[in-house]
Amino acid sequence: MPSDYPHVRRVQPNLYKIKAGKLSAFSYLITADINVLIDTALMSDYPRLEEALLELGLRPDDIDLVLNTHEHCDHVGGNLYLQDVAIIGAYKYSAVKIRYGDDEVMRCRYHGQSFPGSKVHLWLNNADVVDAGSWILKVIHTPGHTSGSMCLYEPRRRILFSGDTLFASGTVSNIYDSGSLGEYFNSLRILKTLKIDLLLPGHGWESRNVERDIELTIGKVIERFPNKKYLLGILRDNV
Ligand SMILES: [Zn+2]
Repeated sequence: MPSDYPHVRRVQPNLYKIKAGKLSAFSYLITADINVLIDTALMSDYPRLEEALLELGLRPDDIDLVLNTHEHCDHVGGNLYLQDVAIIGAYKYSAVKIRYGDDEVMRCRYHGQSFPGSKVHLWLNNADVVDAGSWILKVIHTPGHTSGSMCLYEPRRRILFSGDTLFASGTVSNIYDSGSLGEYFNSLRILKTLKIDLLLPGHGWESRNVERDIELTIGKVIERFPNKKYLLGILRDNV
């Protein structure tokens, strides 16, 4: 039976969204002065990811830089096939997990995958800037879903690649091992300070109403804290 995947869609000039398989996160391809691939799907979906790249006229060795939004298996699997032709980058707390194939937190067994670890050449820090010429990606460390989650922000286009940190319509991220609801709450408040016109998450719908998405998510997160009143007090004090 022919596979339904990959799905490939042009989001805007030089930006493509790829779904390599049902359980894989979206990958985003930016074709700027260098070719940047954000997230690399499940290992088992890599043939479909490669097919999508070929459909867009690119071979794997045309990818210059891979950026992983975090260490979960459905976002990093293709690293294994790209690590010797592209530079791989991840936030430093994710990088160490990806490097060693740390399945205490990567959820590979859960997805039926055996990920031995891949090279990570760039161990990124908060506020690092990836200069792809006509595109700029600013690293925003947004712990919560996991400790090493990062979002990538394109300030001139006001686009946020949010991985599993922010979703459309107030869907709250799962908090996994190494993550924290408190850190997630703080990360959302940091994202709230950005001007974002387009949200491109790892799963689910895109959004152009991002301020509302963040407000809704923050509202739901506040409800989860036992000390809601105290928390609201802190928020008022911090305004
Ligand atoms: Zn995840």
